[in-house]
Amino acid sequence: MPSSSSLPRDPYEVLGVARDANETTVKKAFRKLARELHPDVNAHDPDAETKFKQAAEAYEILNDADRRATYDRYGHEGLRSGGSSPNFDGFGSIADLFDAFFGGGGGFGAAGPRAGADQSAAVEIDLEQAAAGAAVDVRYEVVDRCERCHGNGAEPGTPIKTCDRCGGNGVLQAVSRTPFGQVARTVACDVCSGDGKIAERPCARCDGRGREMLTHAVSIDIPAGIAEGQRIRVAGRGHAGEPGAAGGDLYVLVSIRPHERFIRDGDDLITVLDVPAPAAALGAKFEVPTLEGSEDVHVRPGTQSGETLELRSRGMPLLRRPGRRGNLRVVVNVVIPRHLSDEQRRLFERLNETMTDNNTRSDESVFTKLKRALRV
Ligand SMILES: [Zn+2]
Ligand SMILES: [Zn+2]
Repeated sequence: MPSSSSLPRDPYEVLGVARDANETTVKKAFRKLARELHPDVNAHDPDAETKFKQAAEAYEILNDADRRATYDRYGHEGLRSGGSSPNFDGFGSIADLFDAFFGGGGGFGAAGPRAGADQSAAVEIDLEQAAAGAAVDVRYEVVDRCERCHGNGAEPGTPIKTCDRCGGNGVLQAVSRTPFGQVARTVACDVCSGDGKIAERPCARCDGRGREMLTHAVSIDIPAGIAEGQRIRVAGRGHAGEPGAAGGDLYVLVSIRPHERFIRDGDDLITVLDVPAPAAALGAKFEVPTLEGSEDVHVRPGTQSGETLELRSRGMPLLRRPGRRGNLRVVVNVVIPRHLSDEQRRLFERLNETMTDNNTRSDESVFTKLKRALRV
């Protein structure tokens, strides 16, 4: 005995109808309740399934003149002795119950040709393209209408006949036993798959399915400032739907190739500038590459390895915020000369003899240096 029937409720009360309500009123009341409890509407209500079962049980009694008369005279006891108490336990979910009762979601306007599924594709772009924005061609595979038969499944020039099994309707009435007695469900014809028509000679290319896997190309606009791993949605470019239904969407995953000069850090870019030790000591002007070309920076005298110069607004553009850009951080790498010539060696030896504590004294504490080092 299902739990929902262990304490049977008065069916008139459940449906909220009067004792003398006619068939139409009972039907209306049940449909109204069912609509409120439909899983599409009421997925958040954990009791929806129980409530729907109660409503269905009540309807099952009041909609049947004999059962209703029995209930009116003897109550639930009378129905039980008849041995036909409904049992909903075979149904997995409220959605299945609805299907059984109304036939594949019918009556709620949800039926119709199925829309196509979404498809995904991937594209790799350069950092420059991510910075400037770009139109990029993407190739991807989707299920689409067969190009040979244009979707009708027949070899070109061969006749298409009406399906014998469904008489051209595309649907069959499948009668199944359920707690409500026999329920007729409308299902797609298994011979013509709902088309109502059959090709005498199936299309050689798609085997009569009317659909095939095709390679498509689409041009997508990549917005300036896009981040690694973002997806761009192209509406309607996914798998084709059934005839008359919309296609799915295409989601393009964008990844950005590593750049040889720049590392991206959010909206900022980071690059390294090699500065020979004498130039770092004396101070000098250097050309620093940017995304758009190059720019002069002044390395001040005494610049240490690991110090960062910041070029404001030379980083990545901010996504969908025109005119705003991150910064370019230039990390100085002081290069100690190697492979000295005789003259260089003499100069370094003379320089070394003149070195005093004042030359190596830092204005910064060790702690500040440590913090700076950890940042980069
Ligand atoms: Zn075909
Ligand atoms: Zn058919």
